[in-house]
Amino acid sequence: MYDIIVVGGNLSGASAASVAAEKGAKCALIERHQKPYSPAHCGEGIPDVVGDFLKLDEIGCLTNPIEIININLSTIKEYTFKLKKHKIIIIDRNKLEKHLLEKAEQNGAELFIGKTVKDFKPPDEVLLDNNESLKGKIIIDASGIACHIGSKIGIDTKLKPEDVGVCIQSRIKGSFVRNTVKLWYHKPYAPFGYAWVFPINNTLANVGLGITGGQKLDMQELLDKYIQYETKGDCEILHTFRSCVPSAYPLIELVKDNVMFVGDSARLANSATGAGILNAIISGNLAGCIATKYLKGGINTLDTYTLEMKRILKRLKKTYNRKIKLTTDEKFLTGYKKAFSLLSFANSISPGFFQNYVAKRVEKELIKLEKYK
Ligand SMILES: Cc1cc2nc3c(=O)[nH]c(=O)nc-3n(C[C@H](O)[C@H](O)[C@H](O)COP(=O)(O)OP(=O)(O)OC[C@H]3O[C@@H](n4cnc5c(N)ncnc54)[C@H](O)[C@@H]3O)c2cc1C
Repeated sequence: MYDIIVVGGNLSGASAASVAAEKGAKCALIERHQKPYSPAHCGEGIPDVVGDFLKLDEIGCLTNPIEIININLSTIKEYTFKLKKHKIIIIDRNKLEKHLLEKAEQNGAELFIGKTVKDFKPPDEVLLDNNESLKGKIIIDASGIACHIGSKIGIDTKLKPEDVGVCIQSRIKGSFVRNTVKLWYHKPYAPFGYAWVFPINNTLANVGLGITGGQKLDMQELLDKYIQYETKGDCEILHTFRSCVPSAYPLIELVKDNVMFVGDSARLANSATGAGILNAIISGNLAGCIATKYLKGGINTLDTYTLEMKRILKRLKKTYNRKIKLTTDEKFLTGYKKAFSLLSFANSISPGFFQNYVAKRVEKELIKLEKYK
């Protein structure tokens, strides 16, 4: 019998298994892909304070600091934000995830890589595709948008099309301004969503777009048009993938019986931006720590995890409630115009205002993790 079984070996799952094993839990992690980190299905942008927390420089994970964000709100207005003290960094997520999995194994977690969880028999039995059966006292569902374990214990895991961010992204060789992220909101490239250029350096970038699901649009055609606009055709496409991120209301129950939900499986990505790395890392670390503490008798309920996630959940719910109102061209444009104009104004008074605010907020959440160390 394992203390903890983690289903899914990406950011949230590898984080959970790593801390749980480090704290002495007998832990198993199951991941269906041989190399879940390759290629990273991600724009790879995070706040710099998260990079510091992850000690990216120590693990040799290259980062590109972004100093300027250029936003086109459709064809109606252009905004430029300069980041001062705190930056966004574009990371090598591939390297980070590989490192987290290796760390989980070094800490003593048993990894079942290339194995798919096909069934869960509550309260403790996890069945793999090779019919192997594992038992665990606590199960952490880190299976991403599928929320695989949730679907087996009566949680409504089906997402409405409009609660899914449908994405397509290419890794592109070309000429890019290394310190500048470019975003294009709404039509013609990303109706009810946005397109992005996240530069890795002067010659490589992640170029993609994410739109609200349920629209009958040719994603490849939208991306081709956006790439043509950004590069004037002077580029080489190295690879392209399609993927989805939940842009939904977070799960009502982050803990049900002995099952805990983390990262995208708990719908913890920001429903307006699709950014989910930060919350995957925070929730994975918290769930791993709290599960272990519970098993050792240090706390008497797993619901401590939900309590510790309270502030994040409140913000995610607020964002979702705002997002679902932007259903027409006019509402979408007016909504974002108001938000970007406010930010521009705040930035003109206090340069880097928004990033500094985000950094402070994130630091508060990360400090919380220290409590469980
Ligand atoms: C195109 C795109 C760009 C993005 N860009 C950014 C960005 O720039 N910044 C940001 O903050 N966020 C970004 N995100 C969001 C971010 O990638 C996710 O929020 C994050 O990956 C969530 O991590 P996770 O570990 O919870 O889930 P996932 O990364 O989805 O990992 C789930 C893992 O579970 C495994 N799994 C699933 N089912 C099973 C099963 N039955 N058995 C075994 N294993 C299973 C999967 O193989 C996978 O490895 C982006 C998302 C997309 C789609």
